[in-house]
Amino acid sequence: MADRFDVVILGMGPGGEVVSGKLIKAGKKIAVVEKELIGGECAYWACIPSKTLLRSPEAREEARRAFGTSTPTLDLEELFEYRDTMIRNLDDSGQVSGYEKKGATVIKGEGRITGPGTVEVDGETLQTEHIVIATGSAPTIPPVEGLDDVHVWTNREATTIKEVPERAIIIGGGPVGIETAQMMSRFGSRVTLVQHSERLINREDPKVGELIERFFEEEGMDVRVGRKAEKARGNGDGAVVTLDDGTEVEADVVVVGSGRSPRTKGIGLESVGVEPRKKGLPIDDRCRLAEGLWAVGDVTGVMPFTHVAQYQGRVAAANILGQTWRADYRGIPRVVFSDPEIAAAGLTEEQAKEHGIDTASATISLPETMARPWTYEQDPRGHLGLVADRGRGVLVGAWAVAPMAGEWIHQAAMAIREEIPIERLLGTVAQFPTYSGAYLEALERLEI
Ligand SMILES: Cc1cc2nc3c(=O)[nH]c(=O)nc-3n(C[C@H](O)[C@H](O)[C@H](O)COP(=O)(O)OP(=O)(O)OC[C@H]3O[C@@H](n4cnc5c(N)ncnc54)[C@H](O)[C@@H]3O)c2cc1C
Repeated sequence: MADRFDVVILGMGPGGEVVSGKLIKAGKKIAVVEKELIGGECAYWACIPSKTLLRSPEAREEARRAFGTSTPTLDLEELFEYRDTMIRNLDDSGQVSGYEKKGATVIKGEGRITGPGTVEVDGETLQTEHIVIATGSAPTIPPVEGLDDVHVWTNREATTIKEVPERAIIIGGGPVGIETAQMMSRFGSRVTLVQHSERLINREDPKVGELIERFFEEEGMDVRVGRKAEKARGNGDGAVVTLDDGTEVEADVVVVGSGRSPRTKGIGLESVGVEPRKKGLPIDDRCRLAEGLWAVGDVTGVMPFTHVAQYQGRVAAANILGQTWRADYRGIPRVVFSDPEIAAAGLTEEQAKEHGIDTASATISLPETMARPWTYEQDPRGHLGLVADRGRGVLVGAWAVAPMAGEWIHQAAMAIREEIPIERLLGTVAQFPTYSGAYLEALERLEI
């Protein structure tokens, strides 16, 4: 007889883990199905290793930019060992036993929905009242002729790096491409970063891409924006990539960082009448797909971040437990952990205009307006941009390129999400001297 559960969770990345935790706490009988490692992409091949690997070279650069400090050396072997402990040496046995101890049934294998309320894993059928799809996303391989025949790294090889290639070409200038390019460059690779559109991180304010391109060039990276990788061919152990202007770039590895696709194939969606869109699964604002069928995380295509997967996990769990919680994606922060960090929340000015908003905006250079950048580093860096809705007198967007911007973007995220009137924001007080003080400077320049 098939096992019967209250909820079966398909995929145990950050989204699946949050749903599971909430449901276990509420006393539900759950089964979690994971085909690789509990913790998902984020824990082993994405957020955690990438942030760990970026931190040591960043600390070295911080020391170099401070005053009267010597520059520490980077011990890559030690760093890679620390990374390995952070990714649990790609071993999730502790996670498996942790869930089992809490009363969940853990099934390691590839799950597939076979009809409403049924999931099959390796010939075993699970019956359940609810199914949560949390299968995440996989890297998109760009259509470059010949790429199949050369040594290609995705985020998995880049984040488990053990030997630093002399030369690397990174295809894609979005968050993953930017972080990987800076990491490899600071490890000692000669990096060429190729971005198809006219600027890096092209979904953010144009000034963001312009700034980060300049910083990367100053660090010695070869940044090619508005260029497409067209062909690749093997060259000894390495590769030659031909760009659309005819130039050839030689590299020891080709790293693809050109986006991700939701994992919707092979999970049995047809058996429950769900048609995936290219972007992801068509959930409603309660993360619901159909009666007893839910989806959270990258597979929904809403916003490819761990905090969004976790938020959706909270929303889906609450609804499964009988509450009505509707997701609200306003003001959710986006961070690229480059040095300096890129952080943003809400709409860009262009997006706000597309929404018909009468915008007012202000951009400030932090070293030109504040003391903190000068007390923090030599040759200080930093910009903050705000976008306001003139009619409603509230912020609708913010971005920053500056040290630790990922930490202090949250004030803007909160103001956007809670629609705090600009008049009230102007009355707030930030500690002197901090980067947070920049908000007041920029708010005062908004012509609303
Ligand atoms: C290099 C890189 C760095 C990143 N850095 C950050 C960051 O700093 N901050 C941030 O917020 N986001 C970051 N992200 C994005 C973040 O990793 C994802 O948004 C997050 O992992 C999504 O979580 P998820 O639960 O939806 O899916 P995933 O983490 O992809 O997990 C899905 C799980 O489902 C399993 N699965 C799939 N199909 C099946 C099946 N049929 N049966 C059983 N199991 C299945 C998979 O094995 C996987 O374990 C980064 C991404 C990359 C690539």
